[in-house]
Amino acid sequence: MGYELNNTKELLIEASNSILFTTMRPSIVIESGEGMYLWDTEGKNYLDFVGGWAVNALGHCPNVIKEALINQGNTLINASPSFYNKPMIEFAKLLTDNSCFNKVFFTNSGSEANEGAIKLARKYGAKFLNGAYEIITITNSFHGRTLATMSASGKKVWEKLYEPKVPGFKHVPLNDIECIKACITSSTCAIMLEPIQGEGGVYEVNKNYMRILSDICKERGILMIFDEVQTGLGRTGKLFAYEHYDIEPDIMTLAKGIGGGYPLSALLTKEALNIFEPGDQGGTYSSQPLGMAVGIAVVSEIINKDLSYNAKMQGNYIIKKLIEIKDKYKLKNIRGKGLLLAFDLPQDNGKEIVDKCLDEGLILNSPKPSTIRLMPPLIVTEEDTDKMVDILSKVLDTIL
Ligand SMILES: *Cc1c(COP(=O)(O)O)cnc(C)c1O
Repeated sequence: MGYELNNTKELLIEASNSILFTTMRPSIVIESGEGMYLWDTEGKNYLDFVGGWAVNALGHCPNVIKEALINQGNTLINASPSFYNKPMIEFAKLLTDNSCFNKVFFTNSGSEANEGAIKLARKYGAKFLNGAYEIITITNSFHGRTLATMSASGKKVWEKLYEPKVPGFKHVPLNDIECIKACITSSTCAIMLEPIQGEGGVYEVNKNYMRILSDICKERGILMIFDEVQTGLGRTGKLFAYEHYDIEPDIMTLAKGIGGGYPLSALLTKEALNIFEPGDQGGTYSSQPLGMAVGIAVVSEIINKDLSYNAKMQGNYIIKKLIEIKDKYKLKNIRGKGLLLAFDLPQDNGKEIVDKCLDEGLILNSPKPSTIRLMPPLIVTEEDTDKMVDILSKVLDTIL
């Protein structure tokens, strides 16, 4: 093959030649993965506490995903979105049997699932709320990168980007009940929120706020949309983060962990919102059999091995270890649930710390300059955490 590139240097030169620039990437090329580790083309390994961005719930290259891909690949790769296929029905049953929902729409990314949720809410508003279309979302939230989901997101740096935005979104500060009350009008059809803001830096919706908000929504017939793209499937210590609150949302979106690395997402809702008409919603790869087979394998594994419980216990262990080094390095606000955790630094040097950790063979994330976020695969062990804390401490020593 004339296109084979044989060493890291050649690969990196070709990357700068032919990959459209969208983000700064370190000068390594990832070649393989197994469990908690990734390997680059130089053979160096990295302990992965980001897990493909909260995606690789079962770690890298787990057998259950490999087997699902091979078996489904031997049976049916793609039929057509106009037919039912067997794994799509089985997967929908698995998700509805294990949640408060009874209807599922499958698609490929978190953004697309959220687009579907926005459309469903607007359809509901048109049908039942005199044409109400406005959706209230939270400042600092992240809902995706399509134009509508960017408009829904409360990311400050996106405010001026790709104007004009999709209209119909209002942003309110997190956990401020008076403010959201004041923003609800007869045009409001839904509230959309992440139970724990992920990209925003790991900030939780508090219980009391959620309960009051849920009561207001019920009273006024306004929908609650939970974006559980990052919090879903065991990550927070429960299968779904809504279980931490005593409420049931009307719509929930899932992605990231649901495919364990395969592009897959789902919108879940209830019979009362089974209101799409033919032509309203779809997608060429909606319910694509390979994705369905992987989804069944991943979600079954999370449930059967009770990885939600592991997430809870390992999350507690990570917090305990962070508390042990907190005073020495002046770390603040250790927070989060399960395996969606973060802490603040005494200075705005998150990127420097992440880069140095990478050099030392540890992958961490800095969602903003003063914050480090941890979102390892749900299979993480205490031994992995001990190693993570060792490397992190070593790096913090060199910076202090
Ligand atoms: C990642 C993320 C999305 C976007 O998902 P994509 O698969 O990148 O489109 C949406 N919402 C939340 C909460 C996310 O973390």
